[in-house]
Amino acid sequence: MRKQIELIRIFNIPIKLDLSWFIIAAFISWTLALGYFPVKYPELGKVTYWIMGIASALLLFISVLLHELSHSLLAKQNNIPIRGITLFIFGGVAEMVKEPPTARSEIKMAVAGPVCSGILALFFFLLSILFTNFFPYLPIVGILKYCFFVNLVLMIFNLLPGFPLDGGRILRAVIWNYSGDIKKATYTASRIGASMGIFLIVWGFFNIFKGNFIGGLWMAFIGIFLKSAAEAGYQQIVTGKLLHGIKISEIMTRNLVTIEDSLPIDKLVNEYFLKYRYNNYPVICKGVFVGIVSIHDVKQIPRREWNTVTAGKIVDSTIVDSCLSPDDDATQAIATMSGKGLGRIPVLDNGKLAGIVSQRDIIHILQHKSALSV
Ligand SMILES: [Zn+2]
Repeated sequence: MRKQIELIRIFNIPIKLDLSWFIIAAFISWTLALGYFPVKYPELGKVTYWIMGIASALLLFISVLLHELSHSLLAKQNNIPIRGITLFIFGGVAEMVKEPPTARSEIKMAVAGPVCSGILALFFFLLSILFTNFFPYLPIVGILKYCFFVNLVLMIFNLLPGFPLDGGRILRAVIWNYSGDIKKATYTASRIGASMGIFLIVWGFFNIFKGNFIGGLWMAFIGIFLKSAAEAGYQQIVTGKLLHGIKISEIMTRNLVTIEDSLPIDKLVNEYFLKYRYNNYPVICKGVFVGIVSIHDVKQIPRREWNTVTAGKIVDSTIVDSCLSPDDDATQAIATMSGKGLGRIPVLDNGKLAGIVSQRDIIHILQHKSALSV
């Protein structure tokens, strides 16, 4: 499961921080403090380099946040709800609840980010000129120049025509507009995105062997990220199209073996785990679903306590928040599974357990549908 911290809400959009961001922020500060700034401004001191590095990493963070926020605001204007913005290892992701309805709205949303980064680049450029002329304090000028440079890079990199980068989204929207086929358009744009990813990986390794270790490592990392995001983006469109309009109630497994929360663990093991051979069981307390108990939970309890400890004591109830309803769309199941890293999700009908939908159920229906090509 991904670990995220919610920072603040801006325009009612939750801004979340992926824990990987801390690692990357430290890495950016470190490379700036020990490499970039000492080379550019050799006359400054060690502590100053570190302050400059940390300040630059924070300003980069704000720049990326503003970039994503401008995407989100345009999405809201086009009635596409935003679940949140997550800032993670290589920048940010605005999570749209659904794909844009038209090619036109896609273009508007995609352009908003690079436009924002361009404005920020201009802003930092002007500010650096202002400081150079009227207040030539080198550390501040250095930070401002770095922010100008990094926003320019953000703008240009995001305009590259590979999906899911902004430029790739624009390209997709243009093809979509001409062909009327979002699947074909996504396929083309994400193939370019994946190819660019491979190119970056190769180029990154070439740089590493040439001695540019940190620069090369960055390129390779971004390449790996881009390639997998491009492939996932295409898969999402294909599965989304196949699953569209299918209700959870049509694909879920209904006849479940459930257990009562009062059941002692020894009975749970002998009469359920050894008999039915499922890895986990839904637990019911007074008719209400309270969670899942798995072999892993059983193993935490010493064997001599198996006849006294009940299933209700070891049940994992974190899954209750992720439950689906029978009327939900099947695409919602995929979103929850991939978002929370779950293999099976319980389906509740007015608090009562109605069934479970698993990755297998989804793969099944996808195989059927793609075999029939409907
Ligand atoms: Zn963007």
